[in-house]
Amino acid sequence: MTAQLIDGKALAETLRASFKDRVETLARQGKHPGLAVILVGENPASQVYVRNKVAACEAVGVHSEKIVYPADVNPAAVLAKIAELNLAPNIHGILVQLPLPRQFDEDIILKAIAAEKDVDGFHAENVGALAQGNPRFIPCTPYGVMKMLEVGKVDLRGREAVVIGRSNIVGKPMALLLLNAGATVTVCHSQTRDLAAHTRRADVLVAAVGKPRFVTADMVKPGAVVIDVGINRLPPEEGGKLCGDVDFTNVREVAAQITPVPGGVGPMTITMLLANTIEAAEREDVA
Ligand code: NDP
Repeated sequence: MTAQLIDGKALAETLRASFKDRVETLARQGKHPGLAVILVGENPASQVYVRNKVAACEAVGVHSEKIVYPADVNPAAVLAKIAELNLAPNIHGILVQLPLPRQFDEDIILKAIAAEKDVDGFHAENVGALAQGNPRFIPCTPYGVMKMLEVGKVDLRGREAVVIGRSNIVGKPMALLLLNAGATVTVCHSQTRDLAAHTRRADVLVAAVGKPRFVTADMVKPGAVVIDVGINRLPPEEGGKLCGDVDFTNVREVAAQITPVPGGVGPMTITMLLANTIEAAEREDVA
């Protein structure tokens, strides 16, 4: 069997087209969704992510503000800016690009963002709401995965779901979303014993490890749905291309559905950031 592809790029395009309509509807009511992105330092990957986020906003008519600080900035200056943005009526979403330089306590920064503007969904209040099954903002990457499972018509109720990875930005919220959707969820990590024994039971397998081609065909149950969150850069001797956490070529011969890298979960992450920002503006509209 060759697995069917769940095409994140196409889904992202469809969703972004629908966002334009929502932004226009808000505009007719005199509302303009706005996102503020704070970047500290010159991490090249972070610079690319921030540039892409700002461009994605522009493309659907969401106002964006990029605020850049040098790597040695005093955290107090960033906290003061966040306090200002928390009160700014033209800003509905605030995100601080991670990772931050050493002098920062990320927890303090994330908690400083008003929970109702925390479009990344990392604030403890929003994490708690998600854990209680009543989310306000869903972290963008796992939110994108849930949308992909929806278009793939994957019924999660009663299915075995295995997530490899337990980070706060991907693995943990992913597990909570699958649980909330009715799956029986196992979360694996670096201390898991006999990982393959878990993954082979999975009807739905989500890999968020950060290791190229980590999930091999013998770890996958025939007919499973495999979601590859990983984004890894291969070394120059292997072509320097982007590669997921799943050995795509071989796993696609075992799985029923699979997401590619690139063109899978990646394009969905920024798309769901736009969704969260627009939702924040729509919510304010109702309030
Ligand atoms: P982290 O490094 O924070 O987490 C990786 C997780 O994998 C950890 O929980 C770790 O376990 C686990 N792990 C590491 N080695 C093993 C192993 N041998 N067996 C089982 N589990 C293992 O990464 P992120 O969650 O931030 O990201 C994961 C991947 O997803 C990366 O490739 C990243 O680039 C990508 N990513 C993609 C996004 C997208 O838009 N598509 C967005 C965000 C991330 P432990 O906790 O025990 O250390």
